[in-house]
Amino acid sequence: MRKIDLTNFQVATSVTARDINRRIVLNLIRRHQPVSRADLARHSGLQRSTVSVIAEQLIKENWITEGASGHAPRGRRPTFLHLNKGRVGIIGIDLRPAQTQIAIANLDAQFLAQESLPTAQNPDEFIAELCARLNNLISAHPEISYEGIGISLPGRIDSQSQKLVFAPNLGWRDVDLKTPLESATGLQVELENAANACALAEVWFGRYSEATSNLLAVTVSEGIGCGLVLNGQIVRGSSGVAGEFGHVTIVENGLACRCGNLGCWEMYASNSAAIRHYAQTASRPRSGKVSHSLNNGLSESAPTFDDVVRLAEQGAPKAVEALERMAHYLGNGLAMLITGLAPDIVVIVGEVTRDWQRFGPIINDVINRHSFTSARTRIIPTDSASQPRLRGTIALVLQKHFGAPLVA
Ligand SMILES: [Zn+2]
Repeated sequence: MRKIDLTNFQVATSVTARDINRRIVLNLIRRHQPVSRADLARHSGLQRSTVSVIAEQLIKENWITEGASGHAPRGRRPTFLHLNKGRVGIIGIDLRPAQTQIAIANLDAQFLAQESLPTAQNPDEFIAELCARLNNLISAHPEISYEGIGISLPGRIDSQSQKLVFAPNLGWRDVDLKTPLESATGLQVELENAANACALAEVWFGRYSEATSNLLAVTVSEGIGCGLVLNGQIVRGSSGVAGEFGHVTIVENGLACRCGNLGCWEMYASNSAAIRHYAQTASRPRSGKVSHSLNNGLSESAPTFDDVVRLAEQGAPKAVEALERMAHYLGNGLAMLITGLAPDIVVIVGEVTRDWQRFGPIINDVINRHSFTSARTRIIPTDSASQPRLRGTIALVLQKHFGAPLVA
């Protein structure tokens, strides 16, 4: 039950009814394609004539096309409808502290073109470069009709101003990406936090999307982000910044975090935490001599997370210890989320999923020792090859047309 918000409501009109029916038909086509008008009428309970009117409109707007004719026992042979996934394109942008990925995807979130650029430290410089790259990409594919741009960000977006307001790992503050990108491309831009984007990717394109309305996405990279979908809706909280469990203190008076707080979860359970712990313990003087074990053909400069994983695979004890410590802290935080929110699914996104045989058992063991509710939560590592952040940006644009409308 949702209470009617008397400060922000919409009364129902004939347009509301048309919009709801259109969205239902569009979703039924997505699910059952190729599908005939008669079957759509059966699936939806709408009059055949209503389905035909909606279908004509969707064809005119390029969302669907008519395909081959089917067989009917008598009367006119039905033509099948399916999503026009080849022509409708969505631009997805995954902005991360070091690199930004740009892609054009179809309605099934299959990438038709993809490229990357370094994320400049100066936001103005970066936005100018991004606009130029986007316009080049758009003009290189004139056959596509573009529906919009979705952007995944390592931070939170203020729901009023649409500015990036909390991005400690990027170091940007109050940055407006929407206005300059919209005026450069003429396309509508949707912004979303990276963890929310991953949650949306799972809701719209995931293996369990039909079976769950309570899902958490936990992104583990430079920091830790959480995207919460509860009762089928993204949880935004006051001003849009809900989900920052990465910045909840788990160690009283612990390590200083870039957010200004002490002892944040991500200071112990992120990739950066493992790298930091490894670098500190591996360079600690042993028997009066400074030892640096990064000598297996790896860089002499600061190690990367992949370096630490590789060293652990080779059996380096300090690297194993750093990863196991990280897994332990990840388990602790996840136990809190599972006990508190009882999700059906927790999707884990990040490099840790590539070494899941190491991380998974430790995480599950910690959760089993600390969570005593009867929540039946499945922990699912996401395949990083599926690029969940980028797929989430496609879902972001898609949900504007396929999502349930907010009425009343
Ligand atoms: Zn913090």
